[in-house]
Amino acid sequence: MSANLTAAWPYGMISVSDRRVTGLVSGEIRTNRSTKMTVFGCADAHGVIVYNGIGTDDAGRTPSEWLMSLAEQQVFDLSFADILNRIVADVEPRLIALRQKYGSTRSRHTFVISVWEHAVPAIYCISNYERADENGEAAKAGEKLTVSRTISTPNQIQIFATGSHPFRRNLQAISGSIKAGALVNRVKALCVKAVKDIAYGRGLGRGAVGASCQWAFLGPTRDEVWFGLDVVGGAVAQETPNLINITANLSLGGTFSARLGGPGQLVKESYAGLGEGVKVAHYDPAQKRPVFRELVCGICMSPIPASHRSCEVCSYERGSDRSKLRRRRTAQPL
Ligand SMILES: [Zn+2]
Repeated sequence: MSANLTAAWPYGMISVSDRRVTGLVSGEIRTNRSTKMTVFGCADAHGVIVYNGIGTDDAGRTPSEWLMSLAEQQVFDLSFADILNRIVADVEPRLIALRQKYGSTRSRHTFVISVWEHAVPAIYCISNYERADENGEAAKAGEKLTVSRTISTPNQIQIFATGSHPFRRNLQAISGSIKAGALVNRVKALCVKAVKDIAYGRGLGRGAVGASCQWAFLGPTRDEVWFGLDVVGGAVAQETPNLINITANLSLGGTFSARLGGPGQLVKESYAGLGEGVKVAHYDPAQKRPVFRELVCGICMSPIPASHRSCEVCSYERGSDRSKLRRRRTAQPL
């Protein structure tokens, strides 16, 4: 299912997404480190794409990889309006095929695309079951994808969440902090908390929503992009959202930061860390890509990405005793 949340206001935009993928039929946790966020620049806009619904297709490819394939065809060099059309044309047949195989409930899918269009923030929704301009959702996926846009007026705060829905009190805290002129870090922390509270509040940590999140902050100009990973119990390294045609900054703690990507560059499966963080993945020359490890928790059997210090499921069940949790990590490969 997943959960994502985007808050946009006249000076900034923050998007947060969980990283869990559960089996379409079994419901079991397959991974806690799927990247469901893509930050992009195109001919006339820059923005961030997140999604919920399909975690992987029958070929094992994620919707993030569908987008990356479009980027390899230079689709993201086009105007934003053209990109919306190309995503619909690419994704609609994929979802129709999944609907035929798994039924109309399990094939529900939504992309949320938040963009700065000429310094004005807008949130678009491409979906076969929900819209950005109406509350509620259909129980079953339709054949056609629709493109909708949130209704906004100048100076308004827009918050849009799809997948599992956040608690009202968390949404109120986000809009309250933006209205009060809080620092971006504070607003980001509240957006991350809204997604984590879904993970822990409704499924006791084992549900369809993960408790570690990727996030991105985008300012009105494309040189103001920051992103990162927020993990319960702390992260050894930052596994970053994918990038298309844009540069993003990454804080590594203290005064350390990194810059990734740029115009004409596609960045996926990337991470950055200091010290032990560099061991999170190794480059496999045969596959020509980095290979990331995921361990299995010795207590609850949930996957633990190598970038995490502790198990996000046990972090809920065992409270705040992180030193014990760290010792419970086992080296059993997934
Ligand atoms: Zn565990």
